[in-house]
Amino acid sequence: MAEQPMLKFVTVERDMPEKRAADLRREDFNEIYAEYAEAKAQEQSSRCSQCGVPYCQSHCPLHNNIPDWLKLTAEGRLQEAYEVSQATNTFPEICGRICPQDRLCEGNCVIEQSGHGTVTIGAVEKYITDTAWEQGWVQPIAPRAERSESVGIIGAGPGGLAAADVLRRAGVQVTVYDRYDRAGGLLTYGIPGFKLEKDVVMRRNDQLAQGGVTFELNTNVGEDISFDELRSRHDAVVIATGVYKSREIEAPGVGATGLVRAIDFLTASNRKSFGDAVPEFDSGALNAEGKRVVVIGGGDTAMDCVRTSVRQGATSVKCLYRRDRANMPGSQREVQNAEEEGVIFEWLSAPKGFVGDPVTGVMVQKMRLGAPDATGRQAPEVIEGADYVEDADLVIMALGFEPEALPTLWDQPELPVTRWGTIKAAFTTGATDLDGVYAVGDIVRGASLVVWAIRDGRDCAEAILKRLGDASVMAAE
Ligand SMILES: Cc1cc2nc3c(=O)[nH]c(=O)nc-3n(C[C@H](O)[C@H](O)[C@H](O)COP(=O)(O)OP(=O)(O)OC[C@H]3O[C@@H](n4cnc5c(N)ncnc54)[C@H](O)[C@@H]3O)c2cc1C
Ligand code: SF4
Repeated sequence: MAEQPMLKFVTVERDMPEKRAADLRREDFNEIYAEYAEAKAQEQSSRCSQCGVPYCQSHCPLHNNIPDWLKLTAEGRLQEAYEVSQATNTFPEICGRICPQDRLCEGNCVIEQSGHGTVTIGAVEKYITDTAWEQGWVQPIAPRAERSESVGIIGAGPGGLAAADVLRRAGVQVTVYDRYDRAGGLLTYGIPGFKLEKDVVMRRNDQLAQGGVTFELNTNVGEDISFDELRSRHDAVVIATGVYKSREIEAPGVGATGLVRAIDFLTASNRKSFGDAVPEFDSGALNAEGKRVVVIGGGDTAMDCVRTSVRQGATSVKCLYRRDRANMPGSQREVQNAEEEGVIFEWLSAPKGFVGDPVTGVMVQKMRLGAPDATGRQAPEVIEGADYVEDADLVIMALGFEPEALPTLWDQPELPVTRWGTIKAAFTTGATDLDGVYAVGDIVRGASLVVWAIRDGRDCAEAILKRLGDASVMAAE
């Protein structure tokens, strides 16, 4: 009888792909994990217990058929594994790299909960699709028939691109508008290369363009073209503009030179990695080299800023967060990576103000966690008399993002928004109250995750296809 390839979690230990040594990682912006070798990917996949009710799958926002592609990988049937994996995920190699798996699929793996260590789902997902690219299994979209209808998508982030992919596969004419010069949204200009190398994103952009998606870049909707004009050009419009307004704090010293926004800092760094001219980086305004850097915030953006600062050659990098380690919103995996790279975390510390202009320090007040608030989270309280000044030459504010005021910017007072400024849209379809106008991703959810943007984009595209019906396939068929 052939050997059972699965359920090896008792005898085979969890093993992530090798992580580069911290002192080498600090020197460049390349990803920090190596790729699995084939035998390792097979071995790690074979640890899956093939649960009858796979909690990993139900906690993956895309409901990926994880046990199936793990089994196929364990059996060495990689091309089939790729087919199954890409059937539910537009960008599996991107999610495999940057999903917070500890909170999603892997965090709900049954063998993790039985103390054996989770199956390394994300690393295998990345391996499958990276292999597919190498082997030429990932091909440009080739719709079976062209359709006459067109859809305009505002925003070339993962939400917009996932919608574009599904619509284009059905033969719809798709134009994606973006105010940036490159597609990818935060995948391109927000998330640093050490989490997601840029050629991984660019090859997806190229694949979509080769498959007939038209990109109109350097086009700021509301400035270069009006929203009304877009609606008149297309049968449906998808708003996938993300959230870019940085949250600010009000405190003495705000406005001093040397206080910068996280998104500006990360965008400058990513542009530099592309080889673009970035005057604000070259002038030192958005460059941590030789500086004592303090990053304020405890989310993934803050983690990206501290680790970028290390790589730019900061003399010291500290992260201030007002709650403790267990209560921070960012991924624990990223905190560990940052600590290995030399970042110091000052937990239970909040900024009270800033010293000097240019800035020379942050006035810090120490906090403790008090009683839980209405959401059940312990609220931070100030410890009186424990303030101190943290020296700093560059302070990066990573306090979160809010939506821009689209109804005003686009002169569309009837565009429905929530009290937080996000667009009001049906969660399963992205439909808004405006006829033919849909919205997906962060502009609906508020700052969220790539995998949720992909899910929204795919769901919305299906809803648009339903709306268009199958009436008008082009005669060219
Ligand atoms: C620093 C950082 C790190 C992150 N790390 C992770 C991570 O590790 N894992 C994870 O899952 N998520 C992460 N996220 C969150 C993730 O990037 C977002 O949830 C996701 O990109 C949202 O996708 P989106 O398509 O809705 O919007 P975006 O990716 O923001 O794309 C929106 C696009 O719309 C364009 N646009 C906006 N307004 C206009 C306009 N008026 N006209 C034309 N174009 C316009 C923008 O230029 C942009 O290209 C991170 C976010 C940040 C900021
Ligand atoms: S898409 Fe994200 S949550 Fe889903 S299986 Fe992949 S890594 Fe896990």
